[in-house]
Amino acid sequence: MIDLNIESRKTLIYIAIAFAFSVAMRLIWVYQFHDFAPFHFNGQLMINTNDGYIWAEGARDLLSGTTTNPDAKEYFDKFHQLNDLSPVTSAASQLTAFFAKILPFSFESIILYLPVFLSSLVVVPIVLIAKDLKNLEMGFIAALLASVAWSYYNRTMAGYYDTDMLNIVLPMFLLWSIIWAIDTNKNIYLIITAVDILIYRWWYPQSYSLEFSFFGLILLYTLIFDRKNIFNYKLLAIMMFAMMNTDGFIRLGAVLAIFYIFTQKKFDKYIYYILALSIAAFFITGGFSPIWTQLKGYVFRDSVSAADKGLGLHFFTVMQTVREAGKIPFETFSNRISGHTVTFVISFLGYIYLLYKKPIMLFSLPLVGLGFLAYVGGLRFTIYAVPILAFGIAFLITELAVKMPTNKLKYLSMTAFTLAILYPNYKHIEAYKVPTVFNANEVKVLDKLKHIAGRNDYVISWWDYGYPIRYYADVKTLVDGGKHSGSVNFPVSFMLTHTQEEAAKMARLDVEYTEKVADKNLTVFSNIEQMTKEYGFHDTNKFLATLKDTNITLPHKTRNIYFYLPFRMMNIYPTVTLFSNINLMNGRQGRQPFFYVSRNFKDMGSKIQLGQNIFLDKRTLNLTLGKKTMPIRRFVKTQYSKDMKLHKSVQLVNFTSDISVIYMANYNTMLIVDEKTYNSLYIQLMVLENYDKNLFQPVILTPDAKVYKLKV
Ligand code: MG
Repeated sequence: MIDLNIESRKTLIYIAIAFAFSVAMRLIWVYQFHDFAPFHFNGQLMINTNDGYIWAEGARDLLSGTTTNPDAKEYFDKFHQLNDLSPVTSAASQLTAFFAKILPFSFESIILYLPVFLSSLVVVPIVLIAKDLKNLEMGFIAALLASVAWSYYNRTMAGYYDTDMLNIVLPMFLLWSIIWAIDTNKNIYLIITAVDILIYRWWYPQSYSLEFSFFGLILLYTLIFDRKNIFNYKLLAIMMFAMMNTDGFIRLGAVLAIFYIFTQKKFDKYIYYILALSIAAFFITGGFSPIWTQLKGYVFRDSVSAADKGLGLHFFTVMQTVREAGKIPFETFSNRISGHTVTFVISFLGYIYLLYKKPIMLFSLPLVGLGFLAYVGGLRFTIYAVPILAFGIAFLITELAVKMPTNKLKYLSMTAFTLAILYPNYKHIEAYKVPTVFNANEVKVLDKLKHIAGRNDYVISWWDYGYPIRYYADVKTLVDGGKHSGSVNFPVSFMLTHTQEEAAKMARLDVEYTEKVADKNLTVFSNIEQMTKEYGFHDTNKFLATLKDTNITLPHKTRNIYFYLPFRMMNIYPTVTLFSNINLMNGRQGRQPFFYVSRNFKDMGSKIQLGQNIFLDKRTLNLTLGKKTMPIRRFVKTQYSKDMKLHKSVQLVNFTSDISVIYMANYNTMLIVDEKTYNSLYIQLMVLENYDKNLFQPVILTPDAKVYKLKV
């Protein structure tokens, strides 16, 4: 029977309150949109992170099948389709499928609320660490702040269904067990630390850098302060075994065996040999190589990547179009860690003071270091520093409280300061009304497509829509949130921004090459390079030119291909062009296409103002761009009739001009495009429904998204 003394009871109560608080704050977003129809599907709010859809796809597939032997031939039929990239072996999908199986809620509810409950578990290690430091109130205050602090909230809110929901929880448990191990030297913490590493690695395979930093710090501590203590070497050795680069079950076996040995006093004299063995095992299994690869990745960053062999094609890299990779200002940085610049600065000072008073907290340095990497590495890292800096300010608040003359003042000051640091974070949560990834109308299109397209068919769209398309329509895609390097984006970008004829041929080519390469396990530099060679060219430009008018023999058709063209892609059309508007032979970027979207144009009587210095003369249809005035080629107006059919009127103005204006009346949108853009698949099929009947067949046409089936 566990005897709960007052301190243990207090610990549990603090954990319970902090957990409830964290959950409640995450329900604010749910409450704000609980009756907003565009965010709902299947009677539940949809998720708001794109990446979540890949875990959802894996979980959906796991729940749909019954075969558990991955080598069985029927594995792919029962669970998912060959080459469909469904992550059925990922921890996030497996955990989700598990919860979906045992809980009486809909799948949509599970993925919406999973981050709410899992991420709130972060309060547990925070309070437990504070318990070791004999300052439970500090843990309670830090838990309240950390659970709702800006960036942690953003990445673990309701619907932010991604690995982040445990990405801080697990290393915080690791920190807790390391601190307790070093402090108490109890064997139990050896196995807890090792198992925590196993779980953390299972959940997030990139966790090795943080684990390795903890290891390094413990090693340093041992060598400098505690060289004679045999327990430290046991801790280091068991961590090494847990961190090897092998199958999780092998590591679990190794860890259990070593743990047994460590509990037997008679083996203590062999500890140095065991440690040497563990380090050897770590390096031999390649435990260090991912760390080395990552380090190299930070040093070499290039905008154009050139393959070092083969044709040496130059592709555009996605790096510079991803916002996260950019540098961030100090205010954003501190807001995201603590909710306010003042809180951050005080937290930081408090953290330094805490390190001075409680040196054992030095083991938290890797988390703070990773968090501060956000300064160069991008926003998403800030969450690692959140709980540790929360300790900083919570420590100062409790230190101040102790100095208060009466008990009443002590609690009053703690309450007041805690509310003060929570307030900016609450305000942030209240204002953070992020939309769902897709809206209900778009999802309806995909849900309909699910019953039309086969599970081995391809749906082509920009990578941003890849995961949700696969989840809702249960099909395959060429690119997605995890597969969008320059070389795989090139053909898709090419299709969306070139003529229907070029797009149709490239679609058949790229889909069949993708399947062929995966089926035969071929090593190729890129599909496009493989096509170039197999069609007998050395110059990709010459190969691409043959798609224009020549009747090249296309690969054998093994499945259907659909194009999913959402209206929302309008916003990123210029970005989409970047990936194929490049000379693959020398990496030179082509001239930017003219593409301008106006959403708040003004009728000024004789002319329409489309932008700051852009005017369209209503009578002459001359376009004025800054100081330049020119005729336009066409003026096109599109409009939906009552029965939702798109009608368009095309007014030819001047054949010598390269610029056309398209007025999309129902969208309240004016487009100014050059001739190449006008003839692109996206504009022709999505905006104008001008499809070539020999190449495409309309399948679903709605204002939000259009689906066409490829006929070749
Ligand atoms: Mg599938």
